[in-house]
Amino acid sequence: MKIKLFLLLVCVSLYFNNSKIYCQSSDIDVFSLLDLNYKGLENVKKLHLAGNDTEALKALLKYYRDRETVVNPAFKQDNTSISPEEKKMAEDAMQHTFFSYNGFKPFNYGKDIDWTYWPVRDNELRWQLHRQKWFIPMGKMFYINGDEKYAKEWTFQYLDWIKKNPLIAQPKKELSKEEQLIEDNKVDDNNMRYAWRPMEVSHRLSEQYTIFQLYRNSNSFTPEFLSVFLWNTHRHADFVLKHYSKEGNHLLFEAQRILFAGVFFPEFKDAATWRNSGSEILVREMPKQIYPDGFQFELDPGYHSGCIGIFLSALRVAEVNGYTYMFPSWYRQTISGMIQAYYNILLPDLSCPMFSDMTKKVKSDALKSFKDWKTSFPEDKALQYFISGGKSGEAPEYASRAFNTSGFYIFRSDWTENATAMVLKAGPQAGWHAQPDNGTFNIMFNGRNFFPDAGSFSYGGDAEVTRMRESFKQTKVHNTLTLNNKNLEVTNSKCLLWKTGNDIEILVVENPSYKSLTHRRSVFFVDKKFFVVVDEAIGETTGLIGLHFNLCEGPVKMDTLLNQVETQFKDGNNMMLKTFCNQNQKKQEQEGWISYKAKEKFPRKAFSFDVEKKNTKPVRYITVIMPYNTLNQLPKINASFDSKEFNDNNLKLSVTINGKKTNLTYQLGK
Ligand code: MG
Repeated sequence: MKIKLFLLLVCVSLYFNNSKIYCQSSDIDVFSLLDLNYKGLENVKKLHLAGNDTEALKALLKYYRDRETVVNPAFKQDNTSISPEEKKMAEDAMQHTFFSYNGFKPFNYGKDIDWTYWPVRDNELRWQLHRQKWFIPMGKMFYINGDEKYAKEWTFQYLDWIKKNPLIAQPKKELSKEEQLIEDNKVDDNNMRYAWRPMEVSHRLSEQYTIFQLYRNSNSFTPEFLSVFLWNTHRHADFVLKHYSKEGNHLLFEAQRILFAGVFFPEFKDAATWRNSGSEILVREMPKQIYPDGFQFELDPGYHSGCIGIFLSALRVAEVNGYTYMFPSWYRQTISGMIQAYYNILLPDLSCPMFSDMTKKVKSDALKSFKDWKTSFPEDKALQYFISGGKSGEAPEYASRAFNTSGFYIFRSDWTENATAMVLKAGPQAGWHAQPDNGTFNIMFNGRNFFPDAGSFSYGGDAEVTRMRESFKQTKVHNTLTLNNKNLEVTNSKCLLWKTGNDIEILVVENPSYKSLTHRRSVFFVDKKFFVVVDEAIGETTGLIGLHFNLCEGPVKMDTLLNQVETQFKDGNNMMLKTFCNQNQKKQEQEGWISYKAKEKFPRKAFSFDVEKKNTKPVRYITVIMPYNTLNQLPKINASFDSKEFNDNNLKLSVTINGKKTNLTYQLGK
């Protein structure tokens, strides 16, 4: 006998906060979604079959309140704590002041919540409102303090959201990559685009179980509310299953979250389908999205780290709930390689270069991840080395390291915090988060990053937001070479030489940057102390060649006569850069900005060394970048090519620092 739980044509009516909330569905039949033969649901089944759904729902709530068979590694029942930030988020949310996205203050959405309110027309602000990030903080306030007002308000908001953000069936369109980009970046008022974007749906789905654990014993979590909660969870999972993103980190997030739904709510008839679908996608996508050297193919350190979290949390949830068999052994090994890749591109102070869409991440962020990863990979002794500040564990046995497939190259003097290091990015084309930044680098001397990446400032939004995003993506705001100050036309860098282990370590990379103009960049790491960078612009093209350097914030002096740039920090920890060229250079100060998080930017000094390329002859620069202490004398630097003409296979030059000459040379193919 099929009994509908809610048959009223207009609504399910529930009363909270003296408001009458209508659930949009008049046809919720939670029992038809559940496998009533599932172990533990015997009483529920009996009552339901007897036509007593009121009592059956009470029995269902008792079952869920008592249930201990499912393990959620992300929620530690006995030591749930709340940070001051979460506490503020929860208190704000009680007044309908919601935090949705870093870079924006929380906005108030009104007593009668307006879920379409869009104070700044930035897409992320509107999308991420629908991730309901304050639900867990409010749940923690209830769980820790037992104050029912948080649970009462949460149930109100949960139902209010359902009522005002209806799921309107829309034909699923197969979009090409280009069409999807346009779709993601357009700004319109179709609420479905924001409330029901698969990424947001999957985010809400992933938190359903933690939310459930926090609130399930509250008086506001009634049997009737449970039926709406389970129905809503089911339609979220069903939606994700039918609307997977085509590729990239979004698809991984969605797969991991649908796996969670299948593991955490095994009573649903569809649970096995969800588990299988999620795990199959993760196993299928891992070799597609993770290069053999360990980096995720979007080449954005933030998303790379996020993908470690996705793969690892899926594995952990599977392991503790009896589904380890869903993942082959290489899956775990690949995660281990991803972790190694991540700590290799960190600068000596454990901050992360802000390549692509990365925002500022500092040592504390890295340590938080390392501590988490270490619990699954105790055999990686480097994690303990970083966590303990070198007191225990073991540093990797190498210092410099190349990741040839993804194009990350790291010169490192050692693994201490005061080490000298360069992280250089020169790889293949990547996805939407990538920038035309081939060849750019960060350099750290004595704990100061003298060439931090500009960051990204914003994602998509209206014309002004998009314009700002484009300006932070430009090739010339990176430390690399341009033609006519334009963005690179091609990113397909190849490594021609990587040689480490000697006093002079060498990297040679080459990118067909523009039609008829190739950029070859050679880097020499001399005595593990300073860098000599050789840039060669090779090809038929004529035009303005620009060699760009974007410096850290702070006091910077440019000596135009000497083609020299020096920082002047009072703590004495400084850097000087001097450029030599085989043709006349014109020094220009260019606009310089840096953004550590969305919608925040700070001015900084940036320079370009320009040469008018008038014929087919290559333009060749030598740049010496070295640390110096202002307490000492400014180093005297000279450099020149020993061979006058460009040679495909050989490079010879010499650099003289304070009278000491060093010959630098390589021969390709040897
Ligand atoms: Mg950048």
